[in-house]
Amino acid sequence: MNKMSKPNETTSPPSEAAAPQVPGRVLVVGSINMDMVAHAQRLPAPGETLVGQSFVMAPGGKGANQAVAAARLGARVAFVSRVGTRQHGAELLQALQAEGVDASSVVRDPSALPGVAVIMVASEGGENAIVYVPGSNADLTAADVQAAAEQFQPGAVVVAQLEVPVPAIQQAFELARAAGARTVLNAAPALAVPPALLALCDWLVLNETEAQQLAGTEDVEAAACLQQARGARELLVTLGAAGVLMLDAAGQLQRLPATAVKAVDTVGAGDTFVGGLATGLAEGCSAAHAVRLGMAAAAIAVSRSGVQSAMPLRAELPAEFPSMRSLA
Ligand code: ADP
Repeated sequence: MNKMSKPNETTSPPSEAAAPQVPGRVLVVGSINMDMVAHAQRLPAPGETLVGQSFVMAPGGKGANQAVAAARLGARVAFVSRVGTRQHGAELLQALQAEGVDASSVVRDPSALPGVAVIMVASEGGENAIVYVPGSNADLTAADVQAAAEQFQPGAVVVAQLEVPVPAIQQAFELARAAGARTVLNAAPALAVPPALLALCDWLVLNETEAQQLAGTEDVEAAACLQQARGARELLVTLGAAGVLMLDAAGQLQRLPATAVKAVDTVGAGDTFVGGLATGLAEGCSAAHAVRLGMAAAAIAVSRSGVQSAMPLRAELPAEFPSMRSLA
C-alpha cells in the first residue's frame, strides 16, 4: 500500500457478458478491531516524535473492512468472528450491522478486549505504518467457525485473511469446500500459509510486499509462481497504483492496470479490492471482471481519506460498469 499515485494505462471495459445478474453471497471469516489513525505530514523515523494534523478512531480489521467493502458493493454479507465486548467491542459490532452485514454468527466474549490497529498516515503521498494488536481476534477457534456451519452455502464466496488463527480459517475453508462454496484467502499480514490451507484456496490474494516476503524474492511474477507451485490455484498480486498481477490455474500471467486516480489515503486499498473481488466472484463474474470491480472500488477508496468510510457504494462505480450500477 505504500505507494504514490502515478498514471496508468486506461482500464479496458469488461465484456457485458460478464455482467452479474443477482447479488452474490459473501461470507467473511476474519478480524474486527478499532483503527486509531493519526495523520502527519510524513511518517516519523524511529525514536522521533512528530506533531500530527488529525486523529480519528474508526472501525477496522481486515475481516470487517472486507465485509463492509462487499456489502457497499451490493453483496449479501455474513461475518464470522470473535469479538471481545469490553471497551469498544459492542460499538464495533453495531457499526458492522449498520452496514447491513449479518453479524449473527459473531461470538461475543464479555471477558476479552477487541483488537486495535494503531495507524500512522503521511499526508504527503499517503504512505502508512501500522501496529496491530489482535485482542480477541486471536481467540477465534475452529469450533467457533463450526458453530456457524449453516452460513456456508453453495455458490457463496468465503473470504479470510491471516489476522485470525489458521485453524479457524482451515475449518472455514473445509466447510466451504463441503458446501460447494469458493474460497479467497488474503494472506495478510504476510505469514507462511500451511500447505493444507493453500490446497483449499481457490484464490490467493497478496500485495506486492507480502508476495515478496512469502517467496523470499523481489520478483513478483516468480513469487506468484512459487505460491502456485506450493498449492494455491489462482494468484492475485496487488501492485498498488500499478494494478494487479493475475496468475490463473493454467499458469497464464496477466497484468491488469489500475484505474488512475490521485491517491489521498491508501490505507484499506487491499481490503476494498478483496471485498470487490469477492462481490464480483459471488455474482458469477469472470475472475478478470471481478478483479476489475475490486480495482475500480479500490481506486475510489484511495482517492478519499479513511478506510471503511472511503469505500464506495455500487452506484459510485465508474461508467465502465454500467450493468453493475443497475444493481445498486
Ligand atoms: P494493500 O492495501 O494490501 O497494500 P495495494 O496497495 O496493492 O494493496 O492496493 C490494492 C489495489 O488497490 C491495487 O491493486 C489497485 O487496484 C488499488 N490501488 C491501490 N493504490 C492505488 C492508487 N494509488 N491508484 C489507483 N489504484 C490503487
